[in-house]
Amino acid sequence: MPMPDKSTSSEATQAASPGTVSAARKIYPIVKYGDPILEKSTTPVKKFDADLEQLAEDMFASMYAAQGVGLAAPQIGLNLRIAVVDVAAGKNPEAKIVLANPEIIHAEGEKREEEGCLSIPGFRGYVLRPQFVTIKAQNAKGESFEIRGEDLLARAFCHEIDHLNGILFIQHLSMLKRDLIKRKIKKLRKQGEW
Ligand SMILES: [Zn+2]
Repeated sequence: MPMPDKSTSSEATQAASPGTVSAARKIYPIVKYGDPILEKSTTPVKKFDADLEQLAEDMFASMYAAQGVGLAAPQIGLNLRIAVVDVAAGKNPEAKIVLANPEIIHAEGEKREEEGCLSIPGFRGYVLRPQFVTIKAQNAKGESFEIRGEDLLARAFCHEIDHLNGILFIQHLSMLKRDLIKRKIKKLRKQGEW
């Protein structure tokens, strides 16, 4: 999920690569809408090893490079039930959240806000999400945890968990709005701009 407000994007670019040591990070290209991997459900993470920890760090790096606050494995072409979220956009290492095998265990309230997706660049739409969600997940080491999120964090959790189930935010829009976006993307693709 991209940052909600474009005005903060230049700051966020400078704040990339927080926390982690100087290890070179792989920046994955982001898969765009139209690739079937984005609409498939993912396979649970079973092996928690050094490779998975590295993958999570590379996903953070790729997300920061794309100025996002959330990124799910299908968006880098991987069918794996893992996503990363950081609504502080790299400014606070403690805000980095790895979500392996996440599930929503509680949701409360409603909030309609504009939302976008790194895989559907240039398009946004208002999506109704819970205002608060509590999720259960495992970190990159396989340790289980629960975390409660509010507003943007709750939205990011829902958006990324949707990705892991093959669901994109445009599926929450009205059919009219969704078809409009799909038509525009089709046109962009014909022009070789997608
Ligand atoms: Zn997305």
